[in-house]
Amino acid sequence: MSHRRLIAIVGGIGSGKSVVSQVLRCMGYSVYDTDSHARTLMHLDEVRHAVERRFGNVYASDGRLQRDKLARIVFADPAALQDLNAIVHPAVCRDVAQWAQGRAVSFVETALLEQSGLRQVVDEVWRVQAPQDLRETRIMQRSGLNIQEVRQRIAAQRVEDVVVPTDKLIVNDGLMPILPQVINLLGEGHFFQPKT
Ligand code: ADP
Repeated sequence: MSHRRLIAIVGGIGSGKSVVSQVLRCMGYSVYDTDSHARTLMHLDEVRHAVERRFGNVYASDGRLQRDKLARIVFADPAALQDLNAIVHPAVCRDVAQWAQGRAVSFVETALLEQSGLRQVVDEVWRVQAPQDLRETRIMQRSGLNIQEVRQRIAAQRVEDVVVPTDKLIVNDGLMPILPQVINLLGEGHFFQPKT
């Protein structure tokens, strides 16, 4: 059985995607978190073999990925990062599509809808939006990064902010509460159905 409705939760870093995902989970919906699943997918045989072919010995003898080692390689070399993404992103897309099968309504949280190819996998896009100064403050509080580092991370995703289409908007500006907006969107989409 193929999935009936898969919705992407997108938005820049610090916009509040994780908070919206948590709200949805509290309401009983399934939300696929691309960050945490990507870690698991790095240990699938097909992914591991492709990574080793390209980057050499970046897995420890117990089979665990040496993330620091790989990060040092890819963050020093844009071509290497592109190659890593070319291995990981299709694996994520396949995994999301499979995970969503048989679920009436499900969600996938991602900062990289376009770049990952997930745009082709989802039916609808909900964007979480917050003013940049508030995002900066939230990220600094969450991570301990300084303002320059935070701005670098925001800028690194700017392409996604511009090109990704949006079907529905959730405003997370610290004034509008999130929950009523989510309930509204679920109602508009007729998503108040059995969730499995
Ligand atoms: P994203 O997943 O888009 O990067 P998060 O959901 O992690 O963003 O939010 C960034 C930080 O801001 C988190 O520490 C989160 O708890 C906080 N935050 C987000 N929205 C709100 C809000 N409406 N009120 C208070 N804190 C918030």
